[in-house]
Amino acid sequence: MSFEDWYRQDRLPHIYCAGCGNGTIINCTLAAIDQMGWKKEETVFVSGIGCSSRAPGYILADSLHTTHGRALAFATGVKMANPGLNVVVFTGDGDLAAIGGNHFIHACRRNIDLTVVCMNNQIYGMTGGQGSPTTPIGCLSSTTPFGCAETPFDLCELATAAGANYVSRWTSYHVKELEKAVRAGLETPGFSFIEALVQCPTAFGRRNKFRQVADHIEYLRSHSLLKAKRDRMLESGEKIPGDMFVVGELTRRHRPAMGVKP
Ligand code: SF4
Repeated sequence: MSFEDWYRQDRLPHIYCAGCGNGTIINCTLAAIDQMGWKKEETVFVSGIGCSSRAPGYILADSLHTTHGRALAFATGVKMANPGLNVVVFTGDGDLAAIGGNHFIHACRRNIDLTVVCMNNQIYGMTGGQGSPTTPIGCLSSTTPFGCAETPFDLCELATAAGANYVSRWTSYHVKELEKAVRAGLETPGFSFIEALVQCPTAFGRRNKFRQVADHIEYLRSHSLLKAKRDRMLESGEKIPGDMFVVGELTRRHRPAMGVKP
């Protein structure tokens, strides 16, 4: 079987804008799932609301497209009712960290055996380009026309602090690394969180001087700081530029988890 067999071909073409990064992340996730050899009838996809949350609609398996921010509440119910199922959640930065923020920290704290893939486009794409909890300082959105003044959440730090067993961050540029990270998350019992920074040409890019999709992808590449390099810089006392973000496997541990397969 190939990862393409997981797609509902009759639902294509998709609704994503030209140049959107979400498709790359969905491909990476399905490729990792395919490598796991999971059966479709034992796998459930859950999402909330937003561009990222359209993903389960294109996948040939049982799915729940739920209410805004509540994907993790529904996914918790699915997993606790039947721990034998594989449960994967697709979400975005607004869905996960704003409306669903409490569900996020408590799912991490409970360390429920779910894999969460967050497509972080750093803005609300579907609903009009409003600033989200991850919009960087100074960036423009429809609610921050003079530049965002609020400190953004570091979603990976949040997941780690709240108790998730596996946490990693990559971008839509890092296709192979992301695929491996999702696979590692699927293999780790407990709560796995994979953040994927993505380009959103329609809501974020055109407001923030990324006129070409490639410009934004190049920005993601050139501002990624490998965790190993970050650690060396910290050891040597070297200053880390404020506009860089750390990528790589950030947490892997074995806290007691809930909902693990019998
Ligand atoms: Fe993708 Fe942004 Fe368009 Fe949504 S608004 S489909 S995130 S490019």
